Amino acid sequence: MTDKLYIGLDIGGTAVKAGLCGADGELLHLVEGPTETECGRERVLDNIAACARRCVEESPFSWERVAGVGAGIPGQIDAERGVVEFIANLPLTGVRLKDYLESALGRPARISNDGEAWSGAGRGVSSSVTYTLGTGVGGGIVIGGRVIDGFSGMGGELGHMALVADSEAVRCGCGKTGCLETVSSATGIVRMAREAVGRGVRTSLADAGELTAKAVFDAAKAGDGTALGIVDRAAHYLGKSMALVALIVNPERFIVGVAKAGEFLLERVREAFHAHALERARQGVEIVAAELGNNAGVIGAAGLVRDL
Ligand SMILES: [Zn+2]
Repeated sequence: MTDKLYIGLDIGGTAVKAGLCGADGELLHLVEGPTETECGRERVLDNIAACARRCVEESPFSWERVAGVGAGIPGQIDAERGVVEFIANLPLTGVRLKDYLESALGRPARISNDGEAWSGAGRGVSSSVTYTLGTGVGGGIVIGGRVIDGFSGMGGELGHMALVADSEAVRCGCGKTGCLETVSSATGIVRMAREAVGRGVRTSLADAGELTAKAVFDAAKAGDGTALGIVDRAAHYLGKSMALVALIVNPERFIVGVAKAGEFLLERVREAFHAHALERARQGVEIVAAELGNNAGVIGAAGLVRDL
């Protein structure tokens, strides 16, 4: 067996995942490590490269077969030059990430916005819009089989649509206020939970120990009214943003890459979408979880170099 293999990196604000993939996109080995954002740029870059190396070392395959490295990252990217132009949740703004990966790993590399990488994993649907919910909200738009990234790469930056009403808008990592990701990302969900607890609202979240998005979803499923209100709010704005996107590109499918909440969140997103979207823009349109689950990011990222 001498088939070429590809490494896909899914770089997030909290964790980096590396997946070793075959030519058909099958995931052969997966590892995950912390990004350690708080330790600064050098450490984050070291962690990304270490995760990629470990993925191959711990697999039954040898480095010789690795033909390239693709990385999806939740920020504004100049894909051609391989530069991270702006990123809110990682200390990598201005980094020549493609060059870094090529010199650290000795293989050709390609970088992309994470939403694009995820949507790359969902090939086969001619028009889809992908949302990835994590530390931020990433996005990717595919129309007619082509990724739409626009004039300066900002096409599909869905997390920074300023949707939240001014009276309740808070500042986003991008510097603006009221962005979708301030309420619909894991970070936004945790923020709303902290605020509720801080206000002294009666909720089981006050005793939850570490407040995480998963803790909020668990409490909501168990019937905690405050937690349910937070999940509804996250879903409301996601669905509302989809209603807007439906009028701009009218996709056949919305794909949501969501870590742990799954169907509980999606049924609420569908409700909000149906409440806000015009009938013709929503008829027959599906809102589904990313089929490849949490691994769509690495598989899509590996696909970035497979196509070279
Ligand atoms: Zn923003």
